[in-house]
Amino acid sequence: MLTDRTTLTQFLIEERRRYPGASGELNSLILDVALACKAIAKRVAYGALGGVLGAEGTTNVQGETQQKLDLVANDLFLRANEWGGQVCGMVSEELEAPHPIPENYPRGKYLLVFDPLDGSSNIDVNLSVGSIFSILRTTNPGADAAAADFLQPGTEQVCAGYAIYGPSTMIVLTVGTGVHGFTLEPQLGEFILTHPSIQLPAAANEFAINASNSRFWEPAVTRYVDECLAGSTGPRGKDFNMRWVASLVAETHRILTRGGVFLYPRDTKDPTKPGRLRLLYEANPVSFIIEQAGGYASTGRGRILDVAPEDLHQRIAFIFGAREEVELIEQYHRDHNVVERDAPLYSTRGLFRTNG
Ligand code: MN
Ligand code: MN
Repeated sequence: MLTDRTTLTQFLIEERRRYPGASGELNSLILDVALACKAIAKRVAYGALGGVLGAEGTTNVQGETQQKLDLVANDLFLRANEWGGQVCGMVSEELEAPHPIPENYPRGKYLLVFDPLDGSSNIDVNLSVGSIFSILRTTNPGADAAAADFLQPGTEQVCAGYAIYGPSTMIVLTVGTGVHGFTLEPQLGEFILTHPSIQLPAAANEFAINASNSRFWEPAVTRYVDECLAGSTGPRGKDFNMRWVASLVAETHRILTRGGVFLYPRDTKDPTKPGRLRLLYEANPVSFIIEQAGGYASTGRGRILDVAPEDLHQRIAFIFGAREEVELIEQYHRDHNVVERDAPLYSTRGLFRTNG
C-alpha cells in the first residue's frame, strides 16, 4: 500500500544514514514533536465539538489573551517531549520560564523551542492555525537548561519546522538539507512525504503586510509598498497582489508554495516594541526554513539568523520571502536611514527627493 510513499519516520531514518555519526536522538525528538502536532490537529479538527474554542480568561507573559487551545496545545507539546530523554529543557511562547523536565526523566542534549498554536485568534472563525518549533543543541548536556542556554542565534538551529492545520494537516521541516513537506494521512495517522525539496519561487508577485499599520511605517516600508501598489505603471513595472491571513504559519506556507514576500516591519506604533513577532518561537524557525528553500529573511537591517537573542520573549521586525525582494527592502532601509537621520525632508515621502 505504501511502497511508493515515504513516511516521516522513513525519511528521517534515510537522512540519518547519510550521517553515520548521528545518534538517532534527533529523529526521536522530531517524531515526538510530530506526535504532539497530530494530537493538536485532532483537537483543532473537532472545533466546537471538542469544547476547546474561546478564550481561557488568562494572559501570557507577553500580556496577550490566551485561547483555551493555546494552553491545550502547549500542554500537548510538553507532555509529548518531556519523557523521552532527548531534551534538557523546553521553552514556549506561553511559558514565562523554561519548563523543567520532571525528576524521573533523563536529560538529553537538545533544547526545544515552540509556539504551540500560531494564529490562535483564527480558531474561533475556523481559519488555518499552526504550530512552530525549533531545536537547538545545549552547551550543558544532561543538566537542566537555564534560560540563557536558549539564547543562541538562529544559525545554531539543528532542525526547524511548522505544522499547519488547514484543509489538510501538514508538517514542513528542515534539518539543514532542504525543506520537505509531509501531509497527514488521517486514517493511518502517519505523515507522508508529499512535497520533497521545496524551493521558494524566485519571482515575487504577492506581498503580505498589515496595511492598517501604514501610518506607523518607516519610510523604507512605505516606499516598498507604494511601489508594489503602483504596479505596472510604477518603478517595478509589474502588478502585485496583496494577501493577509494574520497567521504566520499560513503566510509562510503560502510564500513557500507560491512565492512572494511577508513584512511585519519595525514601526512607530509602540516604540518599546522593536517588532511584533517573536525571535525564538517564530522568526528563527521560519527564517531557517525560508533560507533552506532558497529565500531570505531579514529584520530590514540584517539577516534574522545572525541576531544574537537577548531575551526569551524578544520581539523583532520580520521580513521574509523571495531573496531579491527582501534584499531590495534592505536596500531601502539603508537608503532611508541615512536620509532620515540627516534631513527628514529629503526622504521619498518628504518634500524633496535626494536621488532624483
Ligand atoms: Mn505565533
Ligand atoms: Mn501562539
